[in-house]
Amino acid sequence: MQTTSDSSGLIPVETALEALLSQAIAIIETETVDLNKALGRVLAQDIQSQIDVPPFNASAMDGYAINSADIGCDTPLAISQRIAAGQQPTAALAQGSVARIFTGAPLPEGADSVVMQEACSVTDDLVTLPAEIKIGQFVRLKGNHVRRGAVILKKGTKLGPAEIGLAASTGINNISVHRRLKVALLTTGDELIKPGLPLQPGQIYNANQYLLANMLTTLNCEVTSFGPVSDDAAAIKAALKQAAQCCDAIISSGGVSVGEEDHVKAVVEDLGKLDLWRIRIKPGKPLAFGNVLAKPFIGLPGNPVSSFVTFCLFARPFILKSQGLTKTTAKSFPVLADFEQSKPDSRREYKRVSLLTNEAGEMMARPYGSQDSATLMSTSNSDGLLCVPEGVTFERGEILSFMPYSELLG
Ligand code: AMP
Ligand code: MG
Repeated sequence: MQTTSDSSGLIPVETALEALLSQAIAIIETETVDLNKALGRVLAQDIQSQIDVPPFNASAMDGYAINSADIGCDTPLAISQRIAAGQQPTAALAQGSVARIFTGAPLPEGADSVVMQEACSVTDDLVTLPAEIKIGQFVRLKGNHVRRGAVILKKGTKLGPAEIGLAASTGINNISVHRRLKVALLTTGDELIKPGLPLQPGQIYNANQYLLANMLTTLNCEVTSFGPVSDDAAAIKAALKQAAQCCDAIISSGGVSVGEEDHVKAVVEDLGKLDLWRIRIKPGKPLAFGNVLAKPFIGLPGNPVSSFVTFCLFARPFILKSQGLTKTTAKSFPVLADFEQSKPDSRREYKRVSLLTNEAGEMMARPYGSQDSATLMSTSNSDGLLCVPEGVTFERGEILSFMPYSELLG
């Protein structure tokens, strides 16, 4: 890859992100929720297991529990008891006998290994063991998965199905989580109307309202929507004031360029503080960040794809940190570019790409036909964002960094 230097004066993506994250403060209020209602919530404290998991030595197979002193014994052994899952052994296992046992059932005292039923031959209730048995085989020892007192989930973890299942396996039914973040969403633009209404000349449908509200919902925010708010300073001011009163953070789309109809900047400056950043990124160069009546404010560009990409890269980590999450970075993966870059771009581009597999079984990223910042077709017809660094040229087959939507939208 060839790199050339840049003199555009635009802010690098990392600098903008760092500045943004330094202002994100994790919500302090917590609440206790039923484990069944905990999906997507953020843990407010470490969780320690109150029990050993499994709570007893358990069989991992249907078969026979044996005493390892009987390994190598070729005389058939009597079945002294039968233990199914949920039952208790009736007695300790005497040497020279076996216990019929099933997966998940507790081993009787004296037993230390399990032989699967397919490996034994059984005649007249007498069991002949196979020659090869490893001591301890097919036994899940008490506390082997989780030791009593061990931290199983750390504060700041997002609770997905696996985390909730793990908590349940240790007997927890209530869990302390951060309060959900209340986010106000403001779309601006005189041209915007609600889907379902007939289009008048010059109007377009308010795509960002739906796009961004749903991105916020997938992050488990409580969304209050304002808009579309017209391109009018008084209307924007009224909406922003209301938003600041009811929410923890405000996200807007549109009106942050420097045209005469872009009033958001002036109004936010009036109600608080605003930095208008020109970021070295494509799509989505203008991004506003500041506060309105002491509530953090992020102003995304109006073009839907610019809104989408800047939400993924900037608003999402800001929201995650504000929610109390410790992990805010989306994972990226190396893939090969299915295209070449013959001219360097001074801005870092996040292309909407689909993944395909080449003859060698390697993942290749192919950009959607139009990378126009207004065409949402590119986002719905792709698997994720491919980062094309600023100032580089490369041949087809170069390794680049890919972020799947599964990492960015949740
Ligand atoms: P702006 O950032 O307000 O200058 O808007 C840039 C472009 O994005 C314009 O073509 C707008 O019509 C379009 N746009 C702004 N807001 C939305 C929205 N909510 N939904 C769809 N397109 C929008
Ligand atoms: Mg506008």
